[in-house]
Amino acid sequence: PPPAERFEYQAEVSRLMDLIVNSLYSNKEVFLRELISNASDALDKLRYLSVTNPELSKDVADLDIRIYADKENGVITLTDSGIGMTRQELVDCLGTIAQSGTAKFLKALKDNKDAGGDNNLIGQFGVGFYSAFLVADRVTVSTKSPKSDKQYVWESEADSSSYTIKEETDPQLIIPRGTRITLHLKRDEKGFADPERIQKLVKNYSQFVSFPIYTWQEKGYTKEVEVDDDPAESKKDDQDDQTERKKKTKKVVERYWDWELTNETQPIWLRNSKEVTTEEYNEFYRKTFNEYLDPLASSHFTTEGEVEFKSILYVPPVSPMGKDDVVNQKTKNIRLYVKRVFISDDFDGELFPRYLSFIKGVVDSHDLPLNVSREILQESRIVRIMKKRLVKKAFDMILGISLSENREDYEKFWDNFGKHLKLGCIEDRENHKRLAPLLRFFSSQSENDMISLDEYVENMKAEQKAIYYIASDSVTSAKNAPFLEKLTEKELEVLYLVEPIDEVAIQSLKSYKDKDFIDISKEDLDLGK
Ligand code: ADP
Ligand code: MG
Repeated sequence: PPPAERFEYQAEVSRLMDLIVNSLYSNKEVFLRELISNASDALDKLRYLSVTNPELSKDVADLDIRIYADKENGVITLTDSGIGMTRQELVDCLGTIAQSGTAKFLKALKDNKDAGGDNNLIGQFGVGFYSAFLVADRVTVSTKSPKSDKQYVWESEADSSSYTIKEETDPQLIIPRGTRITLHLKRDEKGFADPERIQKLVKNYSQFVSFPIYTWQEKGYTKEVEVDDDPAESKKDDQDDQTERKKKTKKVVERYWDWELTNETQPIWLRNSKEVTTEEYNEFYRKTFNEYLDPLASSHFTTEGEVEFKSILYVPPVSPMGKDDVVNQKTKNIRLYVKRVFISDDFDGELFPRYLSFIKGVVDSHDLPLNVSREILQESRIVRIMKKRLVKKAFDMILGISLSENREDYEKFWDNFGKHLKLGCIEDRENHKRLAPLLRFFSSQSENDMISLDEYVENMKAEQKAIYYIASDSVTSAKNAPFLEKLTEKELEVLYLVEPIDEVAIQSLKSYKDKDFIDISKEDLDLGK
């Protein structure tokens, strides 16, 4: 066989590995979560591919993850029957950084430092494959892609700037498809190769993985065996009539080793919402989207009739890029499944309009074809109906926050996503009725707490016909506007529109509850009597 070929890591990889090892030293166990999550991704990819490729689908039944802990030798082996990697993919995926998880980790690390940082938080971020080196001083990845007829072995040591790749030649290690990762644990970390500890970690980290995870466990069952507990007596018995002889038994535990299913594979969205706790929803959110804060709200629902799907939607607690970022249409916020098969999280306005793209969640459809493509998504009538329903549910959820007794929640929401909703006023005429009640503004009678349009309308004078506003660049300058006095004298409330987008949004609405919006700086302002 050809000898192993040596490759240098891309410079950033070496740096990243240093960072991981130095910032996660108190959180080493995350390595298992990361490897399982990669295995689950690989299985998702295979399942998706097998829909269009019948060759692959004949053995999709055994899509699973198996973890074998060898206590004596301090070795952990994690095998998945997923998509595997070709030789080139080994170089691209494990030798360079191009991956989302790691980018997020770097950002978290930076934010954390800026914030003066608690190290534990970082452990909640996706850090990816290299976290294997937290516990292992040598990592071997043997992998077989359906695109290649050869199986390749990638190997690297901790603190090394290079790795090797060679062909797998050991017939005992040949796998039909997928990836086997072997961790040769560091001297001080051999304790991880304990079947019970692995089982606990899997239960803790992976209860939302939708493929079965088996761990190699020692098991036992009790059986009854016959015993002669008193030899003298049994001798005596021998002389007695055989049929009258009393048999003595005792219970012994028979021990053996076997694969044990360690996680629950029923996806949370298929469960009855009455039986799922808020903490479970929050945990699913944090684990699915690699977040460390709980969502502001969630909604779990099923739609039936014309189009059938199940979904869990969430309102995140913060805007990912900070509230001043431009509204981004392309996110990985919605994970689409078709009959439990993960299809895509790469959407561009198909399921939510741009201004609602901050909503996160999962959608599992029964009506879309499994081999749904981007073109189908864009053209599909089913998708259009789904979008309508999802948008309605998202609004219900946001309205729910706004009606909650805890005012702070909606303030938080508004602070992060108010701009999105104002954009909605401009871009989505059809939903004006849902958007308008959610808006918040300062006013001449409420300079510190924002009010809703409903609060404004309730506070209107009996003879007042319109909703007055003034656009300015801050509350202070709005307060000093020359035209304002004329209204405040009459105790007419005036909304302060202090963000650039406000005025356009209000103008798009035109009116609220049959009251026109009127700009008080217009010359022909008529206040009636
Ligand atoms: P991320 O999961 O965020 O992409 P990782 O560092 O965890 O980043 O993994 C890097 C890449 O390596 C993955 O995107 C994937 O392409 C590849 N990879 C890792 N583990 C596996 C696996 N078990 N099977 C197939 N590909 C894998
Ligand atoms: Mg990963």
